[in-house]
Parts: sequence; structure tokens; C-alpha cells
Amino acid sequence: MSTFPRPGTLAAEARALLDRLGVPAAALSGSLSVRSPLTGETIASIAETDAAGATAAIGQAHEAFLAWRAIPGPRRGELVRLLGEELRASKADLGRLVTIEAGKITSEGLGEVQEMIDICDYAVGLSRQLQGLTIATERPDHRMMETWHPIGVVGVISAFNFPVAVWSWNAALAFVCGDSVVWKPSEKTPLTALAVQAIFEKACARFGGVPAGLSTLLIGGKAVGEALVDDKRVPVVSATGSTAMGRAVGPRLAARFARPILELGGNNAAIVCPSADLDLAVRAIAFAAMGTAGQRCTTLRRLIVHESIYDALLARLKPAYASVKVGDPGAEGTLIGPLVDAAAFAGMQRALEAAKAQGGTVTGGARVTAEGLPEAYYVRPALVEMPGQTEVVKEETFAPILYVMRYSDFDAAIALQNDVPQGLSSSIFTNDLREAERFVSVTGSDCGIANVNIGPSGAEIGGAFGGEKETGGGREAGSDSWKAYMRRATNTVNYGRTLPLAQGVTFDVG
Ligand code: NAD
Repeated sequence: MSTFPRPGTLAAEARALLDRLGVPAAALSGSLSVRSPLTGETIASIAETDAAGATAAIGQAHEAFLAWRAIPGPRRGELVRLLGEELRASKADLGRLVTIEAGKITSEGLGEVQEMIDICDYAVGLSRQLQGLTIATERPDHRMMETWHPIGVVGVISAFNFPVAVWSWNAALAFVCGDSVVWKPSEKTPLTALAVQAIFEKACARFGGVPAGLSTLLIGGKAVGEALVDDKRVPVVSATGSTAMGRAVGPRLAARFARPILELGGNNAAIVCPSADLDLAVRAIAFAAMGTAGQRCTTLRRLIVHESIYDALLARLKPAYASVKVGDPGAEGTLIGPLVDAAAFAGMQRALEAAKAQGGTVTGGARVTAEGLPEAYYVRPALVEMPGQTEVVKEETFAPILYVMRYSDFDAAIALQNDVPQGLSSSIFTNDLREAERFVSVTGSDCGIANVNIGPSGAEIGGAFGGEKETGGGREAGSDSWKAYMRRATNTVNYGRTLPLAQGVTFDVG
């Protein structure tokens, strides 16, 4: 039995959370309406940043960078350590605010804050490991090395569906790398951004002497995002959102030779092979396809199943789809919260109609009416059996739709997995070593993430996160992603008394 949030309570709850998290009351008045997808109600109205405000904030961030870059890396790490501590102390309140503003179920809201804590811990260690190489030089009495320097102001543009974690993936690294950060959160989720800013300021107060403007917020939509994208004082812009957004932002950054970190749409697949452990596969598929109401960039959207196990797998997935609890994401037992808004619901219905027209058989997908909440959009997740990978299957629809297709030949299954414009995440379920190794090899999945016997979603921060093709090519979080937040200098030092030129070139003057 589904439960839904009561109308008329969330504005007061959000206000109390923001107060406890340290957001000043003055920040909570203005023209930008913030609605909660839980009830569809407006829960706050906050001030937007205008063009002059954006210019001033970026200017201040640039000044902050000039001071911050001179602080030693391990000391910069201490600020991020304190940020992690403050996040630990605020986890329950910030997690609940993520639920209210983005619609995530409680464990996913808390999980998103845990991800912020994890990247802070990671970045603290990194602050002592910003290492360059010493390189063999062909010239006698010379030394060649590379050094990594802070680069400047890092612009962060984020999407509604990870309203706080995306900032931290970028900001924790940027701070230890010696950069300042200007953040333009989604206009759909600015309250969580205000809360994160307040938490950051608590860490700054404990650290003492942090230059003003080391981290600032630009509140608003596309226009203020463009101001950040076009500002020459911002050498790196990390932009997370739809491929349509990346198509607009990418060329503008290229026009001024800024460094893009683009984290765009995904259309993630899983191949289920004859030897797969179906118990494990069903659980992994359920979380990856239905979790976060299908609103993760890494959500499983395409299932490619060997014909010999197709009926057996579908016979287990259908009851899971039919029984999963949809409703109040804060209620015990709910696994699917609301879609973010009416446009998301309309997009889902359009895709289901197109799938039917292209030969698909749809199970589920209907709206779940929530009494007294006409502006909240709860849906049953949809399983859609498709005769092949038609046009609609190749698009990312940001909703819980899983297209299921059959395969008979393994090479054809890999080709199908790769035959979409996006290249974010992928997985294979198999106990056949050859299939598993082939999938993660050069002739296997073409995605930035390729998993074996786990679903495509739910990445850890230790690996580099991002994808290829229309996903944009950016990498964030772990591995050597930090290098994108620094500039590299190659230094050659001559400690001898002669001047040998490289490649044997001679140039003797006088
Ligand atoms: P969106 O593209 O509508 O908005 C994302 C952000 O970009 C918002 O802050 C928005 O204001 C800003 N923006 C939009 N147009 C802009 C422009 N021309 N210039 C500057 N800023 C602009 O995306 P959304 O609906 O918030 O999020 C869902 C999308 O994000 C999905 O496509 C999802 O796959 C993608 N996503 C990708 C990742 C990833 O890491 N690859 C992570 C999360 C979400």
C-alpha cells in the first residue's frame, strides 16, 4: 500500500532544516520559486543571481584563488578534512533536504551525502600526492620534470538529480589542488546548494583565514550558467546535465579555449548471458533500472538478454516491477519516489507511446494518483519488450523505463550495447570468464564504465567517473581526475656550463 506525503508540511520542514544547517534567513526570500517533487508545492522562494552579481562573484573567486594557491597542498587538505567533518555532522539533515528537493528515497539521500564525505576523505589524502614526474633527459647536466600548479577558478554547473554530490566531486579536488570554485546548481535544487554553502562556511570558520569567495554560488538558470561559461577568468568548467546542455556549453568553452569537463546523458545497458547468476542479476537490474525513479545518469535503460534465458529472467523481473513500492520517498519501504516534475512525466509518456508505435509491449508506466497532490508525479516503473533497438531506445528518457531486447550471438550483443550515441555506463552478467574479459577489453563495451556482475549505476568515488561519445568525455572523482583541476608545467633545468640543444641542433652565435 503506497503512502504519500501530506500537503502543506514541507515548506516548514525545509525551513527548519535550512535553519539547523546554518543557512541565513535572509537567503530565503526572492523571486526563484523552489518546489518539492514530493508534493508539487512551492516550499521556498529565494534570491537569484543577476549578471552583475555573477561577475562580482567570479571576480572575488579569482582573488581568492590568488591567495589560496600559495597555501601548501596538505594545509589546503585540512580545510577539506574539516568540510568532511561538518558533512558528517550534517548528514541526516542534508540527506533529508535532498529527499525533499530532489525526491530521492531516504537511503539514497543519505547515500548522496556519504558520497560527499567519501570524496572529502579521498581529497585529503590526495592533498599530499599531487605528484609530478622526473623524466629522463637526453642532455647532459640537465634535469627534466613536471610540476602541477593550481589553475584558477573552477566553474561547476550541476544537474537536479545529484544536487550535492556533483559539487563535492569537483570542489573537494579543486580545493586541494589550490583552486577556487563558483557553483551554479540546478535551478530545481538551489536549497541543498545553499545548505552546502553554509556547511562549507562552518568548515572555513574552523580553519580560519580562508580567502573570501573561495567557494561561491550563482543561483538561477541557463542565463547565469552562461555567464559562468563565458567568463575568461574561469579556466575550467565542469558541467553536468543533459547532452543538449553540453551541446550548448561545449562550443562556448572551446571558443575561449577553456577546459571542459562534460558529464552528460547516458543510455546504459546490461547484457545478461546464459551463464548469469539470475538471483544476483535480478537484484542488480531492479536497483539499477528502478532506483532513483530512473533519474540517474547511470540508470539501466537497456537490457540485452540471451534468448535462452529471456523468458526465465522476464518471469522474475515482472513481479519485481509489479510489487515495488512507489510513493513518499521518506516512508519506510518506499523504493521509488516521484519524478522531478510535469515535464519529466510528459517525457516518459511520450517515450512509452513512441515505444508502442515502434513495436514495443509496455508493462507498467502509469501515473500513480496521490490524493490531494495534483502537481506531484509518481509513476509505476515500465518494462518495455522491444523487437529491436529502435530510435526511442537510442534516446535517454530520464524516467524509469527499461527496454528489453533479445540476443543470440555474443558479438551482436556487444554491438547492440555500443550502438547508441551515449557512452556512460554498462555491465555484463556472466560466469563465463571469456565473456567477462571480452566485455571489459578493447573490443568490448565502449563506455567510460564497464562492470561485471554488478549493475551500471552506483559508482564509488575512487574510480574516475564519466563517459565517452555524447556523454562528453569528462572524468571526475577518483583515479587521476585531479589533473583536470591543475595546470602542468614541464621544467628543464640546466645545471652545467654548456648549452647542448635537443635533437642535436647546433646554433653557434659569435
Ligand atoms: P539539464 O541539462 O536540464 O541542466 C543541468 C544544468 O545545466 C542546470 O544547472 C542548468 O541550469 C544548466 N544549463 C542548462 N543549459 C545551460 C546553458 N546553455 N548554459 C549553462 N548552463 C546551462 O539537466 P537536468 O535535467 O538537471 O539533469 C538530468 C540530465 O543530467 C540527464 O541527461 C542526466 O543523464 C545528466 N546527468 C549526467 C551526469 C553525469 O555525470 N554524466 C550526472 C547527473 C546527471
